[in-house]
Amino acid sequence: MDSDDVRGDLAEVLLTEQRIHERIAELCREIEARDAEASDGTPLLLVGVLKGAVMVMADLARELRIPVQMDWMAVSSYGSSTRSSGVVRILKDLDTELAGRRVLIVEDILDSGLTLSWLVENLRSRGPASVEVCTLLRKPEAVKIRVDVQYCGFDIPNAFVIGYGLDYAERYRNLRDVAVLAPHVYQ
Ligand code: 5GP
Ligand code: MG
Ligand code: MG
Repeated sequence: MDSDDVRGDLAEVLLTEQRIHERIAELCREIEARDAEASDGTPLLLVGVLKGAVMVMADLARELRIPVQMDWMAVSSYGSSTRSSGVVRILKDLDTELAGRRVLIVEDILDSGLTLSWLVENLRSRGPASVEVCTLLRKPEAVKIRVDVQYCGFDIPNAFVIGYGLDYAERYRNLRDVAVLAPHVYQ
Protein backbone atom coordinates (compact mmCIF):
# COMPACT_ATOMS: atom_id res chain seq x y z
CA MET A 1 0.00 0.00 0.00
CA ASP A 2 1.26 3.45 -0.90
CA SER A 3 1.19 6.32 1.59
CA ASP A 4 -1.14 8.19 -0.83
CA ASP A 5 -3.94 5.82 0.13
CA VAL A 6 -3.91 6.79 3.82
CA ARG A 7 -2.45 10.28 3.63
CA GLY A 8 -5.19 11.70 5.87
CA ASP A 9 -4.27 9.29 8.67
CA LEU A 10 -0.60 10.30 8.69
CA ALA A 11 0.90 13.25 10.50
CA GLU A 12 4.25 12.87 8.76
CA VAL A 13 6.22 10.34 6.73
CA LEU A 14 9.30 9.69 8.84
CA LEU A 15 11.19 7.19 6.66
CA THR A 16 10.52 6.44 3.02
CA GLU A 17 10.65 2.93 1.63
CA GLN A 18 13.83 3.85 -0.24
CA ARG A 19 15.57 5.20 2.87
CA ILE A 20 14.63 2.04 4.79
CA HIS A 21 16.01 -0.19 2.04
CA GLU A 22 19.27 1.74 1.86
CA ARG A 23 19.74 1.48 5.61
CA ILE A 24 18.92 -2.24 5.66
CA ALA A 25 21.59 -2.79 3.01
CA GLU A 26 24.12 -1.01 5.23
CA LEU A 27 23.15 -3.14 8.22
CA CYS A 28 23.51 -6.28 6.11
CA ARG A 29 27.09 -5.37 5.18
CA GLU A 30 27.84 -5.06 8.94
CA ILE A 31 26.14 -8.37 9.71
CA GLU A 32 28.08 -10.09 6.91
CA ALA A 33 31.41 -8.71 8.12
CA ARG A 34 30.75 -9.95 11.63
CA ASP A 35 29.53 -13.29 10.33
CA ALA A 36 32.81 -13.78 8.47
CA GLU A 37 34.66 -13.57 11.81
CA ALA A 38 32.26 -15.57 13.94
CA SER A 39 31.04 -18.19 11.51
CA ASP A 40 31.41 -21.84 12.51
CA GLY A 41 29.93 -23.24 9.32
CA THR A 42 26.32 -23.22 10.50
CA PRO A 43 23.99 -20.61 9.06
CA LEU A 44 23.11 -17.58 11.13
CA LEU A 45 19.65 -18.06 12.66
CA LEU A 46 17.40 -15.04 12.18
CA VAL A 47 14.61 -14.93 14.78
CA GLY A 48 11.80 -12.59 13.76
CA VAL A 49 9.35 -11.33 16.35
CA LEU A 50 5.80 -11.52 15.01
CA LYS A 51 4.02 -9.66 13.67
CA GLY A 52 5.77 -6.32 13.42
CA ALA A 53 9.12 -7.64 12.22
CA VAL A 54 7.74 -9.42 9.15
CA MET A 55 8.73 -6.68 6.67
CA VAL A 56 12.18 -6.00 8.09
CA MET A 57 12.85 -9.76 8.27
CA ALA A 58 11.81 -10.25 4.63
CA ASP A 59 13.99 -7.42 3.36
CA LEU A 60 16.95 -8.14 5.64
CA ALA A 61 17.03 -11.87 4.86
CA ARG A 62 16.92 -11.29 1.09
CA GLU A 63 19.59 -8.59 1.22
CA LEU A 64 22.04 -10.76 3.20
CA ARG A 65 24.68 -12.50 1.08
CA ILE A 66 25.34 -15.24 3.65
CA PRO A 67 23.42 -18.43 4.39
CA VAL A 68 20.71 -17.89 6.99
CA GLN A 69 17.82 -19.75 8.56
CA MET A 70 14.63 -17.97 9.54
CA ASP A 71 12.42 -18.77 12.49
CA TRP A 72 9.67 -16.84 14.27
CA MET A 73 8.41 -16.15 17.75
CA ALA A 74 5.20 -14.51 18.85
CA VAL A 75 5.13 -12.99 22.30
CA SER A 76 2.59 -10.93 24.14
CA SER A 77 3.57 -8.36 26.70
CA TYR A 78 1.14 -7.73 29.51
CA GLY A 79 0.27 -4.12 30.15
CA SER A 80 -1.76 -1.38 28.53
CA SER A 81 -1.88 -1.09 24.77
CA THR A 82 0.76 1.63 24.76
CA ARG A 83 3.03 0.56 27.66
CA SER A 84 4.58 -2.86 28.03
CA SER A 85 5.14 -4.29 31.51
CA GLY A 86 8.05 -6.62 30.88
CA VAL A 87 5.92 -9.64 31.80
CA VAL A 88 5.90 -11.68 28.64
CA ARG A 89 4.01 -14.74 27.47
CA ILE A 90 5.12 -16.90 24.54
CA LEU A 91 2.29 -17.31 22.02
CA LYS A 92 4.41 -19.15 19.45
CA ASP A 93 7.81 -20.59 20.24
CA LEU A 94 10.70 -21.34 17.90
CA ASP A 95 10.82 -24.60 15.94
CA THR A 96 14.62 -24.56 16.11
CA GLU A 97 16.93 -25.87 18.84
CA LEU A 98 19.29 -23.07 19.84
CA ALA A 99 22.13 -25.08 21.41
CA GLY A 100 25.39 -23.89 19.87
CA ARG A 101 23.67 -21.63 17.33
CA ARG A 102 24.46 -18.03 16.47
CA VAL A 103 21.17 -16.14 16.83
CA LEU A 104 20.17 -12.71 15.53
CA ILE A 105 16.86 -11.40 16.85
CA VAL A 106 15.13 -9.21 14.26
CA GLU A 107 12.78 -6.59 15.70
CA ASP A 108 10.71 -3.75 14.31
CA ILE A 109 10.97 -1.26 17.15
CA LEU A 110 12.48 -0.85 20.60
CA ASP A 111 10.52 1.38 22.96
CA SER A 112 10.92 0.60 26.67
CA GLY A 113 12.95 -2.44 25.64
CA LEU A 114 11.24 -4.58 28.28
CA THR A 115 9.94 -7.13 25.80
CA LEU A 116 13.29 -7.47 24.09
CA SER A 117 15.35 -7.75 27.26
CA TRP A 118 13.08 -10.58 28.37
CA LEU A 119 13.44 -12.25 24.98
CA VAL A 120 17.24 -12.02 24.96
CA GLU A 121 17.42 -13.65 28.40
CA ASN A 122 14.95 -16.34 27.38
CA LEU A 123 16.93 -17.27 24.26
CA ARG A 124 20.27 -17.09 26.12
CA SER A 125 18.98 -19.69 28.59
CA ARG A 126 18.72 -22.21 25.73
CA GLY A 127 22.48 -22.48 25.27
CA PRO A 128 23.13 -20.68 21.97
CA ALA A 129 26.67 -19.71 20.92
CA SER A 130 25.54 -16.05 20.79
CA VAL A 131 22.43 -13.88 20.79
CA GLU A 132 22.54 -10.52 19.04
CA VAL A 133 19.84 -7.96 18.28
CA CYS A 134 18.93 -6.05 15.15
CA THR A 135 16.12 -3.50 15.37
CA LEU A 136 14.93 -1.25 12.58
CA LEU A 137 13.76 1.52 14.90
CA ARG A 138 14.69 2.68 18.38
CA LYS A 139 12.91 5.26 20.53
CA PRO A 140 14.59 7.47 23.17
CA GLU A 141 13.19 5.45 26.10
CA ALA A 142 15.25 2.47 25.00
CA VAL A 143 18.53 4.07 26.07
CA LYS A 144 17.47 3.58 29.71
CA ILE A 145 17.51 -0.19 29.57
CA ARG A 146 20.38 -2.57 29.31
CA VAL A 147 19.77 -4.40 26.08
CA ASP A 148 22.78 -4.56 23.84
CA VAL A 149 21.64 -3.70 20.34
CA GLN A 150 24.31 -4.62 17.83
CA TYR A 151 22.44 -3.32 14.78
CA CYS A 152 20.02 -0.37 14.81
CA GLY A 153 18.46 1.12 11.70
CA PHE A 154 17.20 4.47 12.93
CA ASP A 155 16.85 6.38 16.18
CA ILE A 156 13.46 8.06 15.97
CA PRO A 157 11.60 10.63 18.11
CA ASN A 158 9.10 9.57 20.74
CA ALA A 159 5.99 9.40 18.54
CA PHE A 160 3.65 6.55 17.66
CA VAL A 161 4.67 5.23 14.25
CA ILE A 162 3.03 2.85 11.83
CA GLY A 163 3.84 1.16 8.53
CA TYR A 164 6.47 -1.28 7.27
CA GLY A 165 5.06 -3.97 9.58
CA LEU A 166 4.03 -1.70 12.44
CA ASP A 167 0.33 -1.47 13.21
CA TYR A 168 -2.28 0.56 14.94
CA ALA A 169 -5.20 -1.79 15.83
CA GLU A 170 -3.81 -4.24 13.24
CA ARG A 171 -4.02 -1.65 10.45
CA TYR A 172 -1.31 0.05 8.38
CA ARG A 173 1.18 -2.85 8.47
CA ASN A 174 1.28 -2.89 4.67
CA LEU A 175 2.13 0.79 4.33
CA ARG A 176 5.52 0.95 2.58
CA ASP A 177 6.89 3.93 4.52
CA VAL A 178 7.21 4.46 8.27
CA ALA A 179 4.97 7.33 9.31
CA VAL A 180 3.72 9.09 12.42
CA LEU A 181 0.03 8.35 12.98
CA ALA A 182 -2.16 11.46 13.04
CA PRO A 183 -3.65 12.00 16.52
CA HIS A 184 -7.21 12.26 15.15
CA VAL A 185 -7.06 8.52 14.28
CA TYR A 186 -6.76 7.41 17.92
CA GLN A 187 -8.28 10.32 19.82
P1 5GP B 1 8.77 -2.33 24.48
O1 5GP B 1 8.75 -3.57 25.32
O2 5GP B 1 10.13 -2.06 23.84
O3 5GP B 1 8.25 -1.14 25.20
O4 5GP B 1 7.68 -2.59 23.35
C1 5GP B 1 8.00 -2.77 22.03
C2 5GP B 1 6.74 -3.14 21.30
O5 5GP B 1 5.73 -2.12 21.49
C3 5GP B 1 7.00 -3.20 19.81
O6 5GP B 1 7.38 -4.49 19.38
C4 5GP B 1 5.66 -2.75 19.26
O7 5GP B 1 4.78 -3.84 19.17
C5 5GP B 1 5.12 -1.79 20.29
N1 5GP B 1 5.44 -0.38 19.97
C6 5GP B 1 6.24 0.47 20.65
N2 5GP B 1 6.29 1.68 20.06
C7 5GP B 1 5.49 1.59 18.97
C8 5GP B 1 5.13 2.53 17.94
O8 5GP B 1 5.55 3.69 17.86
N3 5GP B 1 4.29 2.07 16.97
C9 5GP B 1 3.79 0.80 16.97
N4 5GP B 1 2.97 0.47 15.96
N5 5GP B 1 4.10 -0.10 17.93
C10 5GP B 1 4.95 0.29 18.91
MG1 MG C 1 8.23 -5.94 17.79
MG1 MG D 1 1.30 -3.69 17.58
